Amino acid sequence: MATNFIQNFIDEDLRNGKYPDGVHTRFPPEPNGYLHIGHAKSICLNFGLAQANGGLCNLRFDDTNPTKEDVEYVDSIQEDIRWLGFDWDDRMYYASDYFQKLFDYAVELIKRELAYVDDSTPDQIRQMRGTLTEPGIESPFRNRSVDENLDLFNRMKAGEFKDGARVLRAKIDMASPNINMRDPVIYRIAHVAHHRTGDQWCIYPMYDFAHPLSDAIEHISHSVCTLEFEAHRPFYDWLLDALDFDPNDRPRQIEFARLDLTNTITSKRKLRQLVEEGYVRGWDDPRMPTLSGLRRRGFTPTAIKNFCEEIGVAKANSLVDIAMLEHAVRDDLNRNADRIMAVLNPLKVVLTNVEGVEQLTADNHPERDDTRLIPFAREIYIERDDFMEDAPKKFFRLKPGGEVRLKHAYIIKCDEVIKDADGNVVELHCTIDPDSKSGGATADRKVKGTIHWVAAEFAIRAEVRLYDYLIKDAAADDFIASLNPDSLIVIENAMVEPSVKGAAPLTRYQFLRTGYFAVDYDSTDDKPVFNRIVGLKDTWSKVQSKN
Ligand code: ATP
Ligand code: MG
Repeated sequence: MATNFIQNFIDEDLRNGKYPDGVHTRFPPEPNGYLHIGHAKSICLNFGLAQANGGLCNLRFDDTNPTKEDVEYVDSIQEDIRWLGFDWDDRMYYASDYFQKLFDYAVELIKRELAYVDDSTPDQIRQMRGTLTEPGIESPFRNRSVDENLDLFNRMKAGEFKDGARVLRAKIDMASPNINMRDPVIYRIAHVAHHRTGDQWCIYPMYDFAHPLSDAIEHISHSVCTLEFEAHRPFYDWLLDALDFDPNDRPRQIEFARLDLTNTITSKRKLRQLVEEGYVRGWDDPRMPTLSGLRRRGFTPTAIKNFCEEIGVAKANSLVDIAMLEHAVRDDLNRNADRIMAVLNPLKVVLTNVEGVEQLTADNHPERDDTRLIPFAREIYIERDDFMEDAPKKFFRLKPGGEVRLKHAYIIKCDEVIKDADGNVVELHCTIDPDSKSGGATADRKVKGTIHWVAAEFAIRAEVRLYDYLIKDAAADDFIASLNPDSLIVIENAMVEPSVKGAAPLTRYQFLRTGYFAVDYDSTDDKPVFNRIVGLKDTWSKVQSKN
């Protein structure tokens, strides 16, 4: 991992002999949605820091809000982290593992007169909180006795009160300039079953109470989180002081800038809305910025990790151009994806001087020696766009009377254009130069263009799904209104060379001249389905030179 300011803090701590047990980080998702590309950044950082420092990284589910959480998310989160290539070994924890401990800590705060039960309504609590410019007002319940607080808190736990009837608050300072210190709520009543603890609890700790204590319980050395938690840090410190956690053995919180990408939503709430309201086909729709969506689309873990490394860690929020992520994907696929031929929008070509079938040799990758055989025959398909009847001078593909080279095969000449009654071109009649293939007498003859093709008889009919950005402006107030109506274009009858037969989902190819494609889960033997991962053209260098 490249050096960054977080690593510098760690170096400093290690130099000063802090954390004798070594670096111990954690990735703490709330299981209320699928992980997205922003989480990948946090995963790479937390697991990466542990790896780079010979330490450990826990996976901990911050599952304190049962109304929004579900085991479906718990499962998908594990799958996504593993897919990225990280491993928490046997250190998978849940904040809910600590519910009893957290309750005991809350009781301890009450005993120390540092917490109280408040009967105010949520609205009243909000009103009494004050504003950035005005101090808050102390609750009339603030000075309850320890005994009364203990009694009420236990009865909250026993289920005597309805949701919202009472809360437990830390007793700090209603005049603090930091609103997070104005007696924050630390426990609330919610008669909701929890996906792990069932009906055992009807009071649940607030995130700000559970999170720092969970970190401390796990002896996390460096608690890395996004910038918005900077203002919460004083409360976390107060809490650990109040409960006598050893100042020399407690997490050091380090904040970094969250990842925001152009044309990309990184809010679980919004992503969930897209799924629930049917704007996409599910959490793993290949247009989604979720890790499961990117995986299905054909993005590779290597590309995502390289991207996270490339953008580095910053101390100030900024917007990263999505072209940079696409660049990382292209870079990886360029190196690793096999090249094949597929015609997305087929135009039939009859090669009038060809009889029978010939197997031609084609290289699988420009930097490797392995090859495959591709059938060549009298009828082939070429891309409709590669022929033009009234072609401008600079058009170097096929035109009436013109020549073009078929990749891995012969030079052909267009002799005749066949049209239907409406004047649409339906077929071309061409002849090959039989000596122009590799090794032939005229193999080196130069023609300006080379196009891809597939043999009609052997081609596999496939569905190809082309994607554009799901959202035009991710910062738009109404993100639903900013959805791109053309984010998915389905091509029903693309023609792909037969070598793809039986390819497993997520097999990735470069379709020559067209882009990178991955086999979709919907694929069947009869009808393969391909997702376009990215086009061939890299726009990242353009973006860079503009800046
Ligand atoms: P949301 O607000 O969309 O629900 P979240 O940040 O609350 O997302 P968590 O499950 O709490 O989601 O996130 C787990 C970890 O991932 C946290 O440590 C969080 O800071 C980090 N994280 C979430 N989004 C991003 C992002 N866009 N960039 C970097 N880290 C992120
Ligand atoms: Mg969160």
